[in-house]
Amino acid sequence: MSGMSEVIISVPHFKKAPHETVDHEHPYDAAAGNLADHIKFSLTKCLADVKIRRGDVPRSEMDLNRRESRDSDWRKKTREDVEKGKTLLVDVHSFGKSSKFAEFDVVVMDKSDSEEKDLQDEIVDNLKKMGYKVGKYRADPLINDIYRDIVTEQGARDGVLIEMNEDLKEKSPQIAALIGQGVCNSFKKYYKEHPPLIMVE
Ligand SMILES: [Zn+2]
Repeated sequence: MSGMSEVIISVPHFKKAPHETVDHEHPYDAAAGNLADHIKFSLTKCLADVKIRRGDVPRSEMDLNRRESRDSDWRKKTREDVEKGKTLLVDVHSFGKSSKFAEFDVVVMDKSDSEEKDLQDEIVDNLKKMGYKVGKYRADPLINDIYRDIVTEQGARDGVLIEMNEDLKEKSPQIAALIGQGVCNSFKKYYKEHPPLIMVE
């Protein structure tokens, strides 16, 4: 089913081609699928409509996080999940030792430098409080095309791109819970301002 998701958890680099290993060129995000499952689990405490979209094509065939994949079935389906002004995007990735992010445990990106405290700030604070080394960046619109498509162009309410260090795989449940806390809080505020309709006979 499509449409009307509160949260889209996308894992574009999920798919591993049979011959690929992460040792050299990092052709897929080895820890991202598991982190995404834990994020979804942590959101069941506060939300009803959370969708995981796991990439179905290996990156060596097509990079689902780039503009040239916009017409793929996977990208189309992911776009259909957006409810303008309501849906949040959590785009999940992981990195290895050769990454430019290797000094961090987790990197959190979004598009804004807004004064107002947003989802990114909240997740960064949650992670730092628990002692994680966190990098905070702007999503690059020429690289992070899912973010650009879903948040900037389709009008999702907000979003974050998460990059987790693959050495921290065992910490996935805790990292996911800290991300989930930020998402749940964001919806608490949203539903206060947009109370669900109650049918009265
Ligand atoms: Zn990735």
